[in-house]
Amino acid sequence: MRPFTFHPGPRLIAGAALHDKLPGLLPEGPCLFVTDEGVRGLGLANPFCEALEQSGRLVTVFDRVEADPSKETLLAAVRTGRLAGATSVVGFGGGSPMDVAKLAAYLLGSGDELDEIWGVDVAAGHRLPLVLVPTTAGTGSEATPISVITCEGGVKLAVNARPLTADWALLDPGLTVGLPPHVTAATGIDAIVHSIEAYTSARLKNPLSDALAREALSLLTANLLTACEQPGDLEARAAMLLGAHLAGIAFANAPVGGVHALAYPLGGLFHLPHGLTNALMLRPVLEHNSEAARELYAELAPILDPACESLGSQARAKGFIDHVCQLAAGTGVSLRLRDHGIGEDALDQLASEAMKQTRLLVNNPCPIEEADARRLYEAAW
Ligand SMILES: [Zn+2]
Repeated sequence: MRPFTFHPGPRLIAGAALHDKLPGLLPEGPCLFVTDEGVRGLGLANPFCEALEQSGRLVTVFDRVEADPSKETLLAAVRTGRLAGATSVVGFGGGSPMDVAKLAAYLLGSGDELDEIWGVDVAAGHRLPLVLVPTTAGTGSEATPISVITCEGGVKLAVNARPLTADWALLDPGLTVGLPPHVTAATGIDAIVHSIEAYTSARLKNPLSDALAREALSLLTANLLTACEQPGDLEARAAMLLGAHLAGIAFANAPVGGVHALAYPLGGLFHLPHGLTNALMLRPVLEHNSEAARELYAELAPILDPACESLGSQARAKGFIDHVCQLAAGTGVSLRLRDHGIGEDALDQLASEAMKQTRLLVNNPCPIEEADARRLYEAAW
């Protein structure tokens, strides 16, 4: 057996009306509740905050988290928690509020300085007790020990360390039924990319991540279109939420590669949502990888097309890429860069920015050089 290390995700409660469970998962004392204005405006967090208040806790809501949260936002959340004397943190929303909540819980609990803990396994202190509640099915942030923050000059830095893994994740599919179809689509495709890239991860691929990635891919690909077309279908929503969570645990151990590496500059330079950027780069990067990852794509192919079992690995791999990309296109999201305000003159800069994503590029099944990246952006344009 190839040696490997595997870290499970947080303890998990899945179901409905989970606000009743929340007070029992946290210590006594004030709670910092991190969310964003959109989620708060929908009222989704109200039952959770009320349950905490009814248990006698003071709840301080920090709802100023933006998409691609900044260092200033994170530090403001930490100040708010410190002033409130918070003894616990709840992160409630999409990837952005959960990323802020994870790192705020760590900084409040450990007293560490943010600029001293960037990178992998640097943060080693204790965080405050932490519960995460996703309201989208995509990032898997509730499952991972990773927090991505936008710093000076638009540079995205990450803290990736075990203490950021939450104590509990609460999965309630009812919280995701209000997502508009284009958000369901983009976040769902992001989760599909997590499962594929975890399965083909070059350095840290392992049997447990593989099992989770396969199950995630099965749940996600079987339910994406239903969740988009019938937003109130709770079974489909539950499958998407669980799939995104399992994919999150998979890629927390077997990290993502080229699709994400080329997606990040689209977010950094053009402020497109993370899920959409992955959808845009999906086909070009999978096709670039198709020789190096042929056997692995062939192994995944029957999940989307059981009838392909009898084909050779090359045909199966090609069929796999086609099926995944048809599924993404079937959501109705436009998959061309030009349709999202990106000019052809930006392709050189995108390619050069992508080369900075070394922490992701090393996980891709084959190298992506700057000329490759330029060609892949052109293919997506
Ligand atoms: Zn992602």
